[in-house]
Amino acid sequence: MKNVSEYFGVNVFNDRKMQERLPKATYKALKKTIQSGEPLDLSVANVVANAMKDWAVENGCTHYTHWFQPMTGVTAEKHDSFISPNGDGEVIMEFSGKELIKGEPDASSFPSGGIRATFEARGYTTWDPTSPAFIRDKTLYIPTAFCSYTGEVLDKKTPLLRSMEKLSFEAVRVLNLLGKTDVHRVTTTVGPEQEYFLIDKEMYDKRPDLIYTGRTLFGAMAPKGQELDDHYFGSIKSRVSAYMHDLDEELWKLGVYAKTKHNEVAPSQHELAPIFTTSNIATDHNELCMEVMKKTAEKHGLVCLLHEKPFAGVNGSGKHNNWSISTNTGENLLNPGKTPEDNLQFQLFLAAVVKAVDEYQDLLRITVASAGNDHRLGANEAPPAIISMYLGDDLGALVESIIEGKDYKSHKAARMQTGVEALPDFKKDNSDRNRTSPFAFTGNKFEFRALGSSLNIACPNYMLNTMVAQELSGFYRELKDSDDLESSLKALIKKTLTEHKRIIFNGDNYSAEWVEEAERRGLCNYKSLPEAMEHYIDKKNVELFALNGIVTEEEMHARYEIELEQYAKLLNIEALTMLDMAKKDIAPAVMAFVKELAETVALKQSVSSTLSNYAEVRLLESLSGKLEQFVKATGELELAVKAAADYEDNLSLAKYYRETVFELMNNLRSLGDSMEKETSAQYWPYPSYGKILFGV
Ligand code: ADP
Ligand code: MG
Repeated sequence: MKNVSEYFGVNVFNDRKMQERLPKATYKALKKTIQSGEPLDLSVANVVANAMKDWAVENGCTHYTHWFQPMTGVTAEKHDSFISPNGDGEVIMEFSGKELIKGEPDASSFPSGGIRATFEARGYTTWDPTSPAFIRDKTLYIPTAFCSYTGEVLDKKTPLLRSMEKLSFEAVRVLNLLGKTDVHRVTTTVGPEQEYFLIDKEMYDKRPDLIYTGRTLFGAMAPKGQELDDHYFGSIKSRVSAYMHDLDEELWKLGVYAKTKHNEVAPSQHELAPIFTTSNIATDHNELCMEVMKKTAEKHGLVCLLHEKPFAGVNGSGKHNNWSISTNTGENLLNPGKTPEDNLQFQLFLAAVVKAVDEYQDLLRITVASAGNDHRLGANEAPPAIISMYLGDDLGALVESIIEGKDYKSHKAARMQTGVEALPDFKKDNSDRNRTSPFAFTGNKFEFRALGSSLNIACPNYMLNTMVAQELSGFYRELKDSDDLESSLKALIKKTLTEHKRIIFNGDNYSAEWVEEAERRGLCNYKSLPEAMEHYIDKKNVELFALNGIVTEEEMHARYEIELEQYAKLLNIEALTMLDMAKKDIAPAVMAFVKELAETVALKQSVSSTLSNYAEVRLLESLSGKLEQFVKATGELELAVKAAADYEDNLSLAKYYRETVFELMNNLRSLGDSMEKETSAQYWPYPSYGKILFGV
């Protein structure tokens, strides 16, 4: 086995390979584009394309693909081979700069939210040189952005790239004003922690609900769940461990900095966290990571579930988006330093984030809304649907002292004394953790914790970047003509924190009191996707994106329609799957068991008619009653699904699915689960929760 440092990034056309394979001038020109976003010449692209192709072919590739992130929620790729006829009935392998820069997938089958009619099918993918190309399955993957013929943005990467540039522009302006004239570029960095479930493929194959929807639609709780807290950080089973090793290796070859892995709270649940990198690459890597997780599982006879709530009654899966901003001079702008009370620059950036999260709390809620995540937010296992910020004791006290104009007393940097001589003492972190907060300051970054496990992190990040850019732009305007910068800065920081302190909450976000308190503070609490999405196109939100040049008003309306439509479609698939399971598997299974019970009862009665109340009779009565209700509930759900055809606009359709169909699904499920508890395992058509959750 080779050393990791020898094979890390072997499948990536990374900086070292570019240096080795490109003429100096080409390398320099490409580097300029990557580092400062300068446009790239076709002649340069031709040389780069050829070098990429040579490298790919040497490594066994026959095809290349433009890899992009349309609004479907999964990545898309169309493969073309490198072959080109040479006129003698033979072929050579070719790849031009034009092919590298531009692709033309048929865009008509990707969601566009009605921006284009299907006959306007043309769409373009454009090479994103800031994210390196890589090899998978004998194919050269080229990260690209995706837009329509008329230029509308149809993907998630373009707004992210734009928001990064915008934030850089605004932050640089402010920093230059503060005297940091050597700063000319600011980048956002992200480290996404990814949770997932790993289950046995054989069990998975027996569950239509998992196959069609990624989550179990029926399933009675197992005798054991997560109550003993024995899975979190528990020792990793050998089959899972073999999977994790394989996964790490695959990811390392692809240049992904996979770093931390451990068991999570629920049985069969695990987490992987990479080391942070720039938002754009972190996004591509997270998409790649989710794909490699699924593929690697197949090799081990396992299935990796990325759904937010695969099993009722145990924790679902999320993703923590660790986010920060740093300069080309290597300074992390969210690092408070040793004396944050004197660090006005840090305070100003902190104030910008506080103001942004308060003013655009609805957007942050919207960006994590999905049919899957609706099961988690507000269910006391994930941050609640109310967005608030946790600053920790130290920063919290600093903010309070600024607002009240009082002296600040630091609680910080105590040394941890273990009381055991052999163990070294160490410095404690400035803030403890508050696992219940959706948006927590964790030392030198913010951790946005409300993301669902399957979400593409581009969206929360372009929202965060844009809203913070917007606030910085306002700050710049207020400060730029000041005669006394220091006192203007202090006044601005104080004013901002005072006006937006309602968004800061250091207590228990799961408590009922917080829900009431948040309402008094006027914070929003949108419990489901339709409720949240309704506010996506509020005037202030449309203005935010349009004014900052991230997405246009029309594109926002398109995104709004797509989200609502996809939500309704998903719930429709879930309802249809449930109906299928109920009618074809569950009801017949219970009927067969009931028949056996009835036969036993008849047999016993023929032997002795004096007996009337024994186990089979009681079970027969109970199950028959439940079966009756179950069949009735199946009929009600069926009618409700048909009635969905009456709704024309996507918002009322989505609301109908949430308020009516979803409720009937829950009702049907609880009847089904209660029958499962009484039906012989020999008759029950699906593997139980116990078998699935403890089966690996
Ligand atoms: P925990 O589970 O304690 O929250 P982890 O170590 O699992 O922490 O994950 C923390 C994540 O935050 C890692 O991906 C790490 O690389 C990332 N991170 C650290 N510093 C920064 C930063 N400046 N910007 C963005 N992400 C960061
Ligand atoms: Mg975390």
